[in-house]
Amino acid sequence: MKKGIIFYIVMSVLWVKLLYPLELMAQDNVATQSQPNIIIKPEPPLGVPTPISLPDLGDVSSASLSEMEEVKLGDRIMREIRKDPDYVTNWLLYDYINQLGRQLVAGAREEKISGAAATGEFSPKFEFFTVRDSSINAFALPGGYVGLHTGLMGLTDNESQLASVLGHEIGHVTQKHIARGAGQGATSSILMLASLVLAIVAAKSNPGAAQGLAIGGQALAIQNQLSYSRDAEREADRIGFQILKATGFDLHAMPAFFLKLQKATGMMDSGIPVFVRTHPLTSERIAEMQDRVRIEGGQKTVLKNSLDFYLNQTIARFEQESLASQASFLKDYFQDLQSQANIIRQMQGTFGMCLLAIRDTKTSEAEKHLLKAKELSQRLSSLEVSSKTSEVFDITLGQIAIQKNNFSQAISLAQQTMANFPASKAAGVLLVQAHYASGNYQEGVAWLEQKTKVQRDDSTWWNYLAQGYEKLDRQSAYHVAIAEKYVDEGALPAAIKQLTIAKEISSTDYYQLSEIEARKRQLEMLYREELKENNKLPKL
Ligand SMILES: [Zn+2]
Repeated sequence: MKKGIIFYIVMSVLWVKLLYPLELMAQDNVATQSQPNIIIKPEPPLGVPTPISLPDLGDVSSASLSEMEEVKLGDRIMREIRKDPDYVTNWLLYDYINQLGRQLVAGAREEKISGAAATGEFSPKFEFFTVRDSSINAFALPGGYVGLHTGLMGLTDNESQLASVLGHEIGHVTQKHIARGAGQGATSSILMLASLVLAIVAAKSNPGAAQGLAIGGQALAIQNQLSYSRDAEREADRIGFQILKATGFDLHAMPAFFLKLQKATGMMDSGIPVFVRTHPLTSERIAEMQDRVRIEGGQKTVLKNSLDFYLNQTIARFEQESLASQASFLKDYFQDLQSQANIIRQMQGTFGMCLLAIRDTKTSEAEKHLLKAKELSQRLSSLEVSSKTSEVFDITLGQIAIQKNNFSQAISLAQQTMANFPASKAAGVLLVQAHYASGNYQEGVAWLEQKTKVQRDDSTWWNYLAQGYEKLDRQSAYHVAIAEKYVDEGALPAAIKQLTIAKEISSTDYYQLSEIEARKRQLEMLYREELKENNKLPKL
């Protein structure tokens, strides 16, 4: 975190002078580094340097962003965050947080909260993600991206408390607090935010600078720019409350969690939690929440708590301490949970032990822990959990099945999950992994070809598809898939290069050739527009 702050200060001072030269250098670097030989064998890593593409910030002297600018800026920041090692790529956790988030957004839409509508060209996309970080924090980025630190998930006692935090962040998005420059020091905040993002991008693309800059640093620096005013906070609280009410979560959870945060503020070694620093928390705010619950909340609502909440809390903890050097610490932590009287804690500890065993490919041990965790879950009362089924158990069993070479079981578990939850990314990944592990690349590729038709903007699928094409020795198709992966990562020149290779080695199939050529022309046009936009930025 400290590294992030220092970096931020240094870059804020330097970016004015360095941004343009760095940008040009970075373009050169990328042009030489990402040019593969005619046929690349190993699949390029996801973190391959990408050319700089700056968002069009229009008239940067104005204090607020237009909606389109906000979306572009948000996409740009998100592309950088996805490449960071602290961006959590555990798709079970991703599925959970997005399922919960989407439920809350649907509540906001039901309540007809302005700014939450799904229609309109620049309506917020709302995507939720987790960051591997023990600090207590959650934040909204321009364009409707909401990030959650794994540490905050650990602090929540129940799903309603987690929903309170997400609801509050959704409130900042729908009320356009970022675009309206509602931060403290509003006039310069948007310009500062934009410049910070550009500086980070430039620094990351320059191999000589700021190596190993963590997402925590980036996110923190960005959030400090997004520190909200008291009025904005109260407005986000009000929206968050409406959302909780519409979705049937426990309204008492909101003041309870914020009170917990306020108490934690005095007790934490690290001082004030980041969340409290960027979302100023006052006693008046908490009192207002309590009043609202008294007036509108009525009786304490029935706890709406899924089994998934507790299991994903364990996954978050596992991801947070993901280094091999932390294994013995994690083991102690999970074993301590197992020895507690509370069945939920026992289940979480046992499931944590299962995750550790899977990582060490101790397959039979993993299976034993998973069965025990499931058995414990069945002993929970309906007051403790509202639902006893969990995607987490099924997908985890599927992961164990792959380790046991029981590919057909893994495939049927993935398909079963997809039938109940079509948007599940974890199930899709399990399905592809099972097909690939069994050597059935044809099946995996066929599924991915359909998937990438409906979800073009997720580089994960293109990455798997490229792997499959390579195994099937379909070289031209391989380069086309890599090109689309680069498009999703914002690296248009690298994508165009891949399509050039694809064309050169393509068979004489006229239809295939003309398709590649058309896509290449389209990307070249997009890139020209991008350069034109960059030129509109002020020369400093
Ligand atoms: Zn806030």
